[in-house]
Amino acid sequence: MTFFNAVKSTTNQSLDILEGHRITVKREDLIHKVVSGNKFRKLRYNFEDYLLNDKVSVLTFGGAFSNHLAATAYAGKMCKIPTIGIVRGEEWENKVEGSRTLNFCRSQGMDLRFVSRAVYREKEKGSLVKELQSKMRNLAVLPEGGTNELAVKGCEEILTEADQQFDAICCCIGTGGTMAGLVNSTLNQQFVLGFNALNNPEVSKTIKAFTQKENWSVFSNYTFGGYAKVSEELIVFMNNFYQQYQIPLDPIYTGKMLFGIFDLIKSKQWSWGKNILVIHSGGLQGIEPMNLQLKKKRLPLLHYGE
Ligand SMILES: *Cc1c(COP(=O)(O)O)cnc(C)c1O
Repeated sequence: MTFFNAVKSTTNQSLDILEGHRITVKREDLIHKVVSGNKFRKLRYNFEDYLLNDKVSVLTFGGAFSNHLAATAYAGKMCKIPTIGIVRGEEWENKVEGSRTLNFCRSQGMDLRFVSRAVYREKEKGSLVKELQSKMRNLAVLPEGGTNELAVKGCEEILTEADQQFDAICCCIGTGGTMAGLVNSTLNQQFVLGFNALNNPEVSKTIKAFTQKENWSVFSNYTFGGYAKVSEELIVFMNNFYQQYQIPLDPIYTGKMLFGIFDLIKSKQWSWGKNILVIHSGGLQGIEPMNLQLKKKRLPLLHYGE
């Protein structure tokens, strides 16, 4: 029995009808406080594999605000598998306190190694990773964002049979693994819309590597300028959304997706059916770090709660 066996299937929550469209949110964010949403799905079979194959450590990659790093650090602690996090940006080495995410990772026992952006880009092929692999027997390397076959398999379990009633399924895209898993578990007459959270034109290739199906499309009009970039309009939308539905959205992924869905419907560009399921993939640990950034920029903060 691992930490991951405790998975619950998640509830669907309906919003008000929006211009004739019925929007339902699948609350994957409620799976767990840290290993929330798609991170739980993506790590589950990977960690089961590590436990089965006596992996002594897991190495993975992420930025200073990465939900994936936080989730991996926590899962490693729960499964008693030591974790190593390769962090993008050497400048973070001396300011771990400036990142709640990195602080959290360290508190879970993750061994953080900071590298330049150039070295980071080499990922698995970088010299640091090669060196660690040669030194450590049974070191597992988990790709950035955790996207691999086993992650996609986990994401195939997000949709249930009851979800076959929906015309369209919406999800967020970082590395594309979540979307590939969702697509694999849809019927051909359903359509999957993926909302890109960053400018990542290559992501379709990743998705194609993990699915044979073609009932999907990537939307890159709602990136708000790039990964973790936000605007006042987006923050205001997210606060209003919370006021209306008591569903907190995260600023990096799900906020942008819901902004996009509402915008497409209101501007009458939506043409993927009137019964819409939105996957809330979690990521709420990113709210506090974002509020610190917003404060510095004198932008409105995200207000969830009172
Ligand atoms: C990591 C993350 C994603 C991106 O998932 P991919 O499988 O990398 O595309 C989407 N939403 C949230 C909330 C995330 O934390």
